[in-house]
Amino acid sequence: MNAADDKTIVREYFNSTGFDRWKRIYGDGEVNKVQLDIRNGHQQTVDSVIGWLKNDGNLAELSICDAGCGVGSLSIPLATEGAKVYASDISEKMVEEGKQRALETLGNAENPTFAVQDLESLSGSYHTVICLDVLIHYPQEKADEMISHLCSLAQSRIILSFAPKTCALTLLKKIGSFFPGPSKTTRAYLHREADVIKILESNGFAIQRKEFTKTRFYFSRILEATRP
Ligand code: SAM
Repeated sequence: MNAADDKTIVREYFNSTGFDRWKRIYGDGEVNKVQLDIRNGHQQTVDSVIGWLKNDGNLAELSICDAGCGVGSLSIPLATEGAKVYASDISEKMVEEGKQRALETLGNAENPTFAVQDLESLSGSYHTVICLDVLIHYPQEKADEMISHLCSLAQSRIILSFAPKTCALTLLKKIGSFFPGPSKTTRAYLHREADVIKILESNGFAIQRKEFTKTRFYFSRILEATRP
C-alpha cells in the first residue's frame, strides 16, 4: 500500500468508525475496559506535556501548533492556560468535535483556532509545534518527512509522542492485543526512538525532556526537542 492510500484510509477512518471510537475514548462517558485503559494512558501523555509547559511559566506568551489535534484534548487545556493555539487535523469530524468542546469549555470560538488540514500542508511559524500520537499512522520513511516538515514550522521547540518499537511491543502488536480487533483500527506503525531522535537532530534540534507513558494497552514515548 502506498502512503497516499494510507492517508486516505486514515482520513476516512477518523471521519467514520474511528471518529465514534476515539470521540468516546477521548471523552468521559462509559467505555469498555480496554478503551478506559487507553483513555487513562492518553490522558497521562497530555498531562505530562501540559505539566512541562506550565512548569516553564511562559505558556501565555506562546504560539502553539497542535498538529493532528483530534478532538482538542491538548489544544483546549493549552488555550485555557492562555497559549495561542492553532489546532488542525485531517478529519473534519474530529475538528468539528474539537470546536464544539472548545466552545463548551472556553465559551469562545477564537482560541484555539481549528482547521481541517493534513500535516504536510501546514505552513506558518510557531514557537512550539506539538504532535501527539499521530506518528502511529506513518511508516518510518514517511515519518522522517513529516517530522522534518514539522521542524520547519517550529521556531524554538517540537514535542512528539509515538508508540515505541521495542521487542515487547512488536510482539504485542503481532498477537493483536495492543490494537484489539482487526476492524477497529487502521494500520499501526511503531517507531524506533533512536530513529526519531536522529531525524530531530538532523533538523537542528536537541532533546531536552523525555517521558514514557505505559498502561496495559497504551504506550507512548514523549520527546521534547529545542533549537540550541
Ligand atoms: N493528537 C490528538 C490527541 O493526542 O488527542 C489525537 C490523536 S489520534 C490517535 C490521531 C489523530 O491524528 C486523529 O485525529 C487523526 O485524524 C489525525 N491524523 C492522522 N493522520 C493525519 C495527517 N496526515 N494529518 C493530520 N492529522 C492526521
